[in-house]
Amino acid sequence: MGELTGKVAMVTGGNGGIGLAMATALADAGATLALVGRDAAKTAAAQGALGRAGVPAALALTGDMTDEDSVAEVTTEIVRQFGGLDLLINNAGSNDRKLPQEYPLAEWNALIQSNLTSAFLVSQAAYPLMVARGGGKIVNIGSMLSIFGSAMAAPYAAAKGGVVQLTKSLAQAWAGDNIQVNAILPGWIETELTVTAKQQIPGLHDHVMSRTPAGRWGRPQDVGGAARFLCSPAADFVTGVSLPVDGGFSSAI
Ligand code: NDP
Repeated sequence: MGELTGKVAMVTGGNGGIGLAMATALADAGATLALVGRDAAKTAAAQGALGRAGVPAALALTGDMTDEDSVAEVTTEIVRQFGGLDLLINNAGSNDRKLPQEYPLAEWNALIQSNLTSAFLVSQAAYPLMVARGGGKIVNIGSMLSIFGSAMAAPYAAAKGGVVQLTKSLAQAWAGDNIQVNAILPGWIETELTVTAKQQIPGLHDHVMSRTPAGRWGRPQDVGGAARFLCSPAADFVTGVSLPVDGGFSSAI
């Protein structure tokens, strides 16, 4: 028995580095998990990894969280299998590297949709389900680029900045429904996404090490611990907050 026993949790991008770590943290606390990604094989593998941890049943679902119909299909399936939804982690996202003048509109739109619109759409679908359960918790995943700008990631930074304001807006709108909405702003975390970034940006590894007061890169489990707290009853009076999980990166000059 953990503090989330009996709760149903959905993690978008639950097949990736940070998403799977957050799913594992919630499952360790007793939650029943639905993992969502576009890549069915990757999502099934993540489901297997959760199963091996000896935690409650997990559901692997395939869907594109930028597509309204796909979001409706996935949430309907969760309700069909598990009877409702209590916890949502909007973690799906992607990045690319170009100067602002090099982004075609289609690529700008795709990055805004992947990192911001997806969180809006899935939260909108989750809202009536959480109201039906008497409340719920939503955790949106931002980034250090929710705070800082980046010459090489204008759409990603604009979208992740938007995640902070979306979080505050949903928190205000839904506080009366007993739905708490918060964000986590991860620092540099070692995942597939940052392995690619390290290949593209010479000196990134050393830059992060020297700028991070904690003296190391983040681990997906660091984000998992914060997600577990924000989904727990211990955070019932916490809403509208964006919590950096960054080893002090955003507080250092
Ligand atoms: P990954 O690339 O491993 O994870 C991203 C996940 O999002 C994948 O599982 C991908 O699954 C899923 N995804 C992307 N687009 C969609 C979509 N339209 N619908 C459904 N799923 C989608 O990277 P991370 O684990 O590193 O990143 C997770 C989150 O954390 C992202 O939002 C990222 O921006 C954020 N973040 C990461 C940091 C880091 O240092 N790693 C730092 C700050 C923030 P699939 O391919 O199957 O669709």
